[in-house]
Amino acid sequence: MTDNEKPINFIQQVINNDLEAGAVTKVVTRFPPEPNGYLHIGHAKSICVNFGLAEQYGGGCNLRFDDTNPEKEDDEYVNAIIEDVRWLGFQWQGDICYASNYFDQLYSWAQYLINQNLAYACELNAESMREYRGTLTAAGKNSPFRERPAAESLALLEQMKNGDIDEGRMTLRAKIDMASPNINMRDPVMYRIKKMAHQRTGDTWNIYPSYDFAHGQEDAIEGVSHSICTLEFAANRPLYEWFVANLPLPSQPRQYEFGRLNLNYTVTSKRKLKQLVDEQHVEGWDDPRMPTISGLRRRGVSATAIREFCDSLAVAKTDGVVDMAQFEHFIRDDLNNNARRAMCVIDPLLVTLSNYPTDTGEEFVVPGHPNRDDLGERSLPFAQQIYIDRNDFSEDTTLSRKKFKRLVIGDYVRLRSAYIIRADEVIRDASGKITEIVGSIVPDTVGADAPEGIKARGVIHWVSAADSADCTVKIYDRLFNQAAPDAGEESFLEHINPDSLKVVEGCKVERGLTAAVAGDHYQFEREGYFTRDNKGSELVFNCTIGLRDNWKA
Ligand code: ATP
Ligand code: MG
Repeated sequence: MTDNEKPINFIQQVINNDLEAGAVTKVVTRFPPEPNGYLHIGHAKSICVNFGLAEQYGGGCNLRFDDTNPEKEDDEYVNAIIEDVRWLGFQWQGDICYASNYFDQLYSWAQYLINQNLAYACELNAESMREYRGTLTAAGKNSPFRERPAAESLALLEQMKNGDIDEGRMTLRAKIDMASPNINMRDPVMYRIKKMAHQRTGDTWNIYPSYDFAHGQEDAIEGVSHSICTLEFAANRPLYEWFVANLPLPSQPRQYEFGRLNLNYTVTSKRKLKQLVDEQHVEGWDDPRMPTISGLRRRGVSATAIREFCDSLAVAKTDGVVDMAQFEHFIRDDLNNNARRAMCVIDPLLVTLSNYPTDTGEEFVVPGHPNRDDLGERSLPFAQQIYIDRNDFSEDTTLSRKKFKRLVIGDYVRLRSAYIIRADEVIRDASGKITEIVGSIVPDTVGADAPEGIKARGVIHWVSAADSADCTVKIYDRLFNQAAPDAGEESFLEHINPDSLKVVEGCKVERGLTAAVAGDHYQFEREGYFTRDNKGSELVFNCTIGLRDNWKA
């Protein structure tokens, strides 16, 4: 399906109507993360939607840090988020925006609402406020402070701001409707006292705005035309609209909600991901088992794969759980097209080819990729001693050729891009473990068919024993062993897969891969897709994904 044929989603429908009616001339969206954690695959969907729409309509998308809660926020997160958005290949318009840049403006709008008799300083503590709020079925009660004179609220707000009032003793609330069926409209909190320095504004403020009081106003300041968020904010929309309607804003943004992306076998909540990091169930936010953008990158998933996966998902008005296999399909597809081929022997077994000279070395030049000339060629040194994978040899000579397309004593296999060889005998150590196979080459079989009477069982990979490099490979399994780890009563931590990481040292890889840099992708033939790890100086490859695709569209 081409882009033109792709059915448009409900947000595109809204935008088309707005453009047609002249209600909007430039489409401006924003991606507004709170810098309280690293971005995950769910955020990638939101990024693709917001930046994608801006791109499609020739508008712009802002990157805005919703840094209204200094308690949980940190510059480490700000920097990681910037890196991730860039790496995904998106460019925000203008400078990076920060909600904290608007604190003065928000404050004067709070004063404005007080003067309009639409906000008041309330002295109910958290517990009383909860009682007064009512329930889903019972209306709330007006706060006893609701009708205090504006001048008094203004003065109290000033005191809150200056740090003259203790935390928890007072809030600023919008005066809306304590009987509203929508609890968000029952005089919601606009400001809370928090005597805490902010990473950008220092100790200028002792009060911080609530999400609801901040978000729409931030959108209006930035000229955001379509403020797109996830479904859990649908019930906040009337409040968003109330502030937009009651404040003298420079523009009139509107909010639209779409369904969150959830993936099975993982969690996509920053709070839970942070817990995994803090309690050291994983190495860090960028652990390759994490569904974070930085974890996926380190694992070897490309930005293209993430974008294509996100673009393949519906932008709908319902939440859904997407099968991990669907994501894996895009990851594999991308790597199949773009990863160079290489050979890596994960469990090396020495093979000495007795009829091959010790002093000659041949070099076989093979393509970097079977159908990508632009990925160049590589040179495979061949020698009398090579390594094959221990799994590619069996002592059981009764195994049928069909079942075991690998090496057995007295029979033949082809070494990928090299000779056909035969296994002649095994050599063992004192414990009986096979330490070496002695075999022989069938001459003149490089790039040529086997002579009459000889038939290779299959093709296996190998590397030169002397002319290869040692490396470590890390093989990952799902971080959780349940499809919905956070659905039950019990903690999601109980479903952590204890075998999600296997570290294999002493693997042997083509010597050319010593030049691999962080993020280089390879298909290790017959093994899977691997990426050079981005930590440390040792040669470590992370297994991104296996070769086989089980996903059915
Ligand atoms: P979390 O629940 O993981 O803490 P959040 O919604 O609190 O996520 P924000 O930093 O507020 O995280 O999110 C920034 C933007 O990303 C918001 O617009 C939010 O709606 C969107 N977003 C977050 N998670 C998802 C998801 N799973 N699918 C789609 N969009 C998401
Ligand atoms: Mg949030």
